[in-house]
Amino acid sequence: MPGTSDVSHSPVIAEIDFEKPGKQFGALRVPQSRNDSGWGTISIPIVVVKNGKGPTILFTAGNHGDEYEGQVTLLNLSRALDPQEIEGRVIIIPAMHFPAALNGTRMSPIDGKDFNRSFPGNPRGTFAEVLAHYVDSRLLPLCDFQMDLHSGGHGMDVYCCTALHDLDDPAMMRRSLDMANAFNAPVTIVLKEVNAGPTLLAAAEKRKIPALSSELGGRAYVNIDNLEVTERGVRNVLKHVGIMKGTPAPHPRYGKSRVMTVPDFNCYIFVPRAGLFQPADHLGAMVTAGRPAGWLHFIEDPSAPPIELTYKASGLLWCTRGEARVQTGDPVVVIAQDRAS
Ligand code: CA
Repeated sequence: MPGTSDVSHSPVIAEIDFEKPGKQFGALRVPQSRNDSGWGTISIPIVVVKNGKGPTILFTAGNHGDEYEGQVTLLNLSRALDPQEIEGRVIIIPAMHFPAALNGTRMSPIDGKDFNRSFPGNPRGTFAEVLAHYVDSRLLPLCDFQMDLHSGGHGMDVYCCTALHDLDDPAMMRRSLDMANAFNAPVTIVLKEVNAGPTLLAAAEKRKIPALSSELGGRAYVNIDNLEVTERGVRNVLKHVGIMKGTPAPHPRYGKSRVMTVPDFNCYIFVPRAGLFQPADHLGAMVTAGRPAGWLHFIEDPSAPPIELTYKASGLLWCTRGEARVQTGDPVVVIAQDRAS
C-alpha cells in the first residue's frame, strides 16, 4: 500500500468513524497483495451504531466461515438496530473472517488459516494474522463487552449454547457467567482451558473484557430454532449490559440456561479409522456410559461389520458429527455434564 494507513502499526484501514453518533455501514480494508494487484485489498463490512455515552459491545460472527446462525443474526441486527433505541455503542462484524465466509468454509482459501487460532495476530503476517492483530489491538480496547457467535460448521452439530472459560478471577467469571445467563441459550458450557490459546475469546479475557463464545448449531446450515435463540440472545445481552432498555427475556421453551462443563477426555469419542459414522442418538439426548454411541461403516468392504463405538461418560450429547464421512482421529461425540455453578 502507499502510505495511507490511518492506524499506526496496523496496515488495516478502518473506513468507519467509531466515535460518530448514529448508524454507519463501513468497512475494514485489509491489504491482500495479488499478482495482478499488488496494492489490492479485501474489505470486511463493519457496522457501528452509537448514541450517547453508554458502554461498547462488539458482536462478531463468521470467525469460521461455515457457521451461519450468528452471521444471519448479525445481518438482521445491523439493519434493525436504531441508534435511538440504544445508549452506548454497538460494533457489529457479521462475517469477520470474510474470505472464509465468502468461501463457505471454516478456514480461509487465501492463507489456509483458522482465524480463531490466529490471535493475538501479527501486523506483518498473513491475512488472518493481520486481521486478528487489528481486532485484538484496535477493536478490543474500545470494548466493555464482546461476544463471538460460532456454530459447529460442516464438521460438527452442537447443542445450542454459549461458552466461556473457567476463569481464575472470580469477579470476571461472575460477569461473564451473568452475560451467558442473560443470553439464555439452552445450555452454558464452562470450559476448563487454563491457557486457552490463540482464540478471540482468550484475547478478550486477557484484556479483562467480559466475553462469550458460543456454539449455536452446526452442519453448515441455519437451524431455525437456534436462530430464534440467537436473535433473542443478542438483544438480551444488549439489555443486560445496559445498552438497550428492558430486562432480558427468558426463552419460553428452555427457561433458565443449564450450566454445564466437559470435565475430561472421557467425554470425547475420536474415531479409530476413516469411515461413515452412524450416530445412535439425537443431539441433546441424555446418554449413558457403556451404551452404543454409534457405528463406523466401511464402504470398501460390505462384508465387514461396522465398528461399534461406546460412550465412556454419561450426560448430555452436546456435540455430534456434522458430515457422515470421518477421518481417523475425528471427534464424533462430546458429552457435557452439569456443573455446580
Ligand atoms: Ca467455530
